[in-house]
Amino acid sequence: MYHSRRDSHGVRKNVPRINANFARPVFLVNIAQLLTLRSGQSGPRRGLQLRELGLIEDGAVLCGGGKIISVGKTSQALRDPWIRRNRTQIVEIDCSGKVVLPGFIDAHTHPAFLQPRLTDFEKRIVGATYTEIALSGGGIRSSVEAVRRAKRKELADKVLRALRDLASQGTTTIEAKSGYGLSLDAELKSLEAIRSAASRWPGTVVPTLLGAHVVPRELQDRPQEYVQLVCEQMIPAAAKRKLARFVDVFCDRGAFGEEDSLKIAQAARHQGFGLRAHISQLTRTSLERLLALRPTSLDHLDHVNEEDISLLARSETIATLVPGANYFLGLGDYPPARKLIDAGAAVALATDYNPGSSPVTSMPFVLSLASTQMRMTPAEVIAAATINGAHSLGLASRKGSIDPGKDADLALFDLADYREIAYWVGKNFSSGVIAGGELIAYPNRCRELTARRSVD
Ligand SMILES: [Zn+2]
Repeated sequence: MYHSRRDSHGVRKNVPRINANFARPVFLVNIAQLLTLRSGQSGPRRGLQLRELGLIEDGAVLCGGGKIISVGKTSQALRDPWIRRNRTQIVEIDCSGKVVLPGFIDAHTHPAFLQPRLTDFEKRIVGATYTEIALSGGGIRSSVEAVRRAKRKELADKVLRALRDLASQGTTTIEAKSGYGLSLDAELKSLEAIRSAASRWPGTVVPTLLGAHVVPRELQDRPQEYVQLVCEQMIPAAAKRKLARFVDVFCDRGAFGEEDSLKIAQAARHQGFGLRAHISQLTRTSLERLLALRPTSLDHLDHVNEEDISLLARSETIATLVPGANYFLGLGDYPPARKLIDAGAAVALATDYNPGSSPVTSMPFVLSLASTQMRMTPAEVIAAATINGAHSLGLASRKGSIDPGKDADLALFDLADYREIAYWVGKNFSSGVIAGGELIAYPNRCRELTARRSVD
């Protein structure tokens, strides 16, 4: 059975109804720990605010029409006259012994590729560096040929599989970049594949044009020609066809220098795109000039110095950290999350899912890395992966907390204490994922979770 609706980009969604019951209001009760992430403020969480989870024990959430309707204690909810009157019409889910929180918001992924990069993986294990691998023909450019040859449908199926894998571990909103096409046609095809996959997946996808990932091999000696192609053809074409909400640029050694990155960012601004950038991952670039363009998010930030940190802290830009890349590249050092948070920067966490440096689809694993390697507390990692992730995508008015009126995007974990989400490693405790009020994934204990009607 299919039904049709439009998402925020006007993309018509033909979504298979996994459970037709979910057209009806959904009522989650007896939640051991409900993390609402509610707060009185509208901006992203900074400093100590990052530890405020709005925890309700024995909580309840009522969802209807794809939105959160009410949030509170189970005992209060059961006294609510509307719920009492309509209880036989409501799909009720017993969440005893579970943690429920807003679905994770993964604000940085690269799902538009076809194959894993296993040769690079082996070379790195025996000692080659990221730059050496790129120079020997591996790295980002080695994913390009297959993407250029691929049919859009083939690429879309790969993207859809990634969306489902990410969702199976609690993620309901995913930013998805192009960036392995590196020609006008192949970048537009990648964005179309992302749009096609998004139309078949009930969660929310935010598409980003990353034509400026690296200079393609055929223009290696004429990088200015490629910058011109990105600014004068790719960005206007993506704008005209409404294929992306953001433009991203990889500003680092081996990719684009500061001047070219600014040129690309300005072209994107001119066409009305939001801005994000990969920056200071391998070497430091001063953030001052890029921040002046008010990017929504700057990502990686491994090599920021005190001056950059204080500029970020005074800006509205989100610092999106992706420790999966540090883990997979075996770097040892991680982005300075503690310094960023303590200085007042707004930190978010994301997977950076990609075939070269972070084949990671698990937000709980990223939360574990952020806790053990970056000294973020188990509460901070959750706020960074939900409400601050929503800010990183400009979606905080709709997503990132369990507030009446926001989208009914929820992650259920078969754990009694939220601190366990970042504690256990390598096992998926996700027991159900609700996006727009519909159950979209139920990786574990699905029988236990099977929605049932109340009989009283
Ligand atoms: Zn990335």
